[in-house]
Amino acid sequence: MIVGGGSAGWLAAGVIAADHQIPRVPGLEVTLVESPAVSPIGVGEGTWPSMRDTLRRIGVSETDFIRECDAAFKQGSRFAGWTDGGGEHYYHPFSLPQGYGEANLVMPWLREHAAVPYAELVSFQPQLCERGRAPKQVTTPEYAAVANYAYHLDAGKFGPFLQRHCTARLGVRHIVDHVTRIESSDNGDIAAVVTAGHGRVEGDLYVDCTGFSSLLLGQHYGVPLISVQPQLFNDSALAVQVPYAAADAPIASHTISTACEAGWIWDIGLQTRRGVGHVYSSAHMSDTEAERILRDYVTAGTDAKTAAALSPRKLSFRPGYRQTLWQRNCVAVGLAAGFVEPLEASALALVEFSAAMISDQLPATRALMDTVAARFNDAFRYRWERAIDFLKLHYLLSRRSDSPYWREHRASAAVQSRLAELLELWRYQSPSRYDFHRIEEIFPSASYQYVLYGMGFRPEARALPEPVQNAALAQRYFDEAATLCRSMLAALPTNRALLNHLQSYRLQRV
Ligand SMILES: Cc1cc2nc3c(=O)[nH]c(=O)nc-3n(C[C@H](O)[C@H](O)[C@H](O)COP(=O)(O)OP(=O)(O)OC[C@H]3O[C@@H](n4cnc5c(N)ncnc54)[C@H](O)[C@@H]3O)c2cc1C
Repeated sequence: MIVGGGSAGWLAAGVIAADHQIPRVPGLEVTLVESPAVSPIGVGEGTWPSMRDTLRRIGVSETDFIRECDAAFKQGSRFAGWTDGGGEHYYHPFSLPQGYGEANLVMPWLREHAAVPYAELVSFQPQLCERGRAPKQVTTPEYAAVANYAYHLDAGKFGPFLQRHCTARLGVRHIVDHVTRIESSDNGDIAAVVTAGHGRVEGDLYVDCTGFSSLLLGQHYGVPLISVQPQLFNDSALAVQVPYAAADAPIASHTISTACEAGWIWDIGLQTRRGVGHVYSSAHMSDTEAERILRDYVTAGTDAKTAAALSPRKLSFRPGYRQTLWQRNCVAVGLAAGFVEPLEASALALVEFSAAMISDQLPATRALMDTVAARFNDAFRYRWERAIDFLKLHYLLSRRSDSPYWREHRASAAVQSRLAELLELWRYQSPSRYDFHRIEEIFPSASYQYVLYGMGFRPEARALPEPVQNAALAQRYFDEAATLCRSMLAALPTNRALLNHLQSYRLQRV
C-alpha cells in the first residue's frame, strides 16, 4: 500500500510492481492512494544515472520518457563561484576518471600537469559539457551511453507519466482519495488507512510517500526529524521557469550551480525551457533579497522583460531526515523520509535506492519484516549521513568570506567529525575505496576527488610511496582521456540536436 502519488510514490509502485510481475503473479497487489486535495511538490528536475536503470527496470521506453517529460540529458554539474566567489568553475562529471582504481592519478597530475583542472585531465566529459554535446548518438540504443548520463526532467510531467505506465502496464491499483485517519492493530502495526470516499483501505506493508507531511511515519508514528540545519543552513528556495531566448538555443547537458551570497542558484536545461531556482538560508537572507538575486541571474541569461514577467514560487523545508525510516509495517520514501538542499540532486536517487531495496528485500512474512526493517534503517541512515557529509564538503572547501553565511559554514566544520577526519587524511592521500567501502556508496570516492581538487584542495607535497610503474600508467590514462575527448567531440551531436531528433525518431529499443 503506497500512500502518495508524487515521484516517490509512483517510482516505488513501479519498481515493486514490475519486479514482482503484478498482476500476473497472484498473491501480491500494489495499491497507490493519492489525495486529490494535495498536489505533488512539482519540483525536482535533476537526476542521477541510476534513473536510467530504474526506468529500464520498470519497462519504460526511454524515447517516450524523453518526449513526455520534456527531459534532456545531464552529464554532471558545473559549479561556478564556489571556491572564491569569482569567475572560477569546476566540473563534477558522471563518468569516473579514466583508469580510476587502477592507477593513482592524483600525484602524477600534481607533478606533471598541475595547471590543468583535475577533472579535465582525467575525464573527457567536462569538455563534452563545455561544448554542449549529447552523451550519445542517434544510433545508440535506449539507455545505452557513449558518456555516462542522467536526465533533467519536468517534475510536473514525470509523476503523471509514471502513473500512466504503472496503472496501464504494471497493474498498480490507483485510488484517488484523501487519507483522513490511520487505524492501528493491537500490536502497533498500521491496520488500514481510512479515506474520505473509499473507507478503510488495508495493506500488509505501507510505504509513506506523502511528502513533507510524512503522514504515516512522521505524524502517526511520531518518528522525529533529525535536523541537519546546524550543518546545512539552506531551508528555502525560489523557483522559476525560464523560456529559452530562441527555439534553437543550446541546451546545457549539465546542471549549472552558481554560488551566491547566502546560497546558490540551480540552472537546469529542459527541452522547452530552463528551470532556475535560488536555494538559500532564511537565517542569512530575506526572501526579497533572494528574489532580487534570482532575477539578476535570470536577466543576465535572457532579457529584462522576460525576467520581470516571472513570478517565483517559494518553497520552504526543514533540512533533515527521519530518525527511523522503517518502523513496524511502515517505511517512508521521498520527502516523507527527509530532504536536504538539492545541491547534488540526491533526493530522487535516494527514492530509487529505497524502492529497489524494498522490492529486492520484500519481506515474505510479518516476522521477517522487522529484520528487513533493521537492515533498511542501517543502510539508509548511513546513506543520509554520507549525503550530508558530501554536501557539506562543498561549503567547507570554499574560501569565500564575503558574507557571514560562508564564514559560518567553515566555522561549523567540527559538527561533522567523520568528514573532518577524512579531510585530515586527504592531506596525505587521495580519497579511495578505503574511505567508502559499502557496496552501494551514495557518493563514490571519485566524486570526492572531483570536488576536492576542483575546489583547490591540494594534498601535501610529501607524496606517499608510489609504485614504480604508476607514473607511466597514469600518463597512459591521461592520454586515453584526451583521445576519447577528441573522438567524442567529433562524433557526438549537440544536446539540442539529439533532443530535436528524438521528437521525430525513436532510439532503438533493447
Ligand atoms: C526546491 C526543491 C528542489 C528539488 N530539486 C531536486 C532535484 O533537482 N533532484 C531531485 O532528485 N530531487 C529534488 N527535489 C526533491 C524532489 O522534489 C522530491 O524528492 C520528489 O519530487 C519526490 O517527492 P515526493 O513524492 O516524496 O512528495 P510529493 O511530490 O510532495 O508528493 C506527496 C504525495 O502525497 C500525497 N498526499 C499527501 N497527503 C495525503 C493524504 N492525506 N492522503 C493521500 N495522499 C496524500 C499527495 O497527494 C502527493 O501525491 C527538490 C525538492 C525541492 C523542495
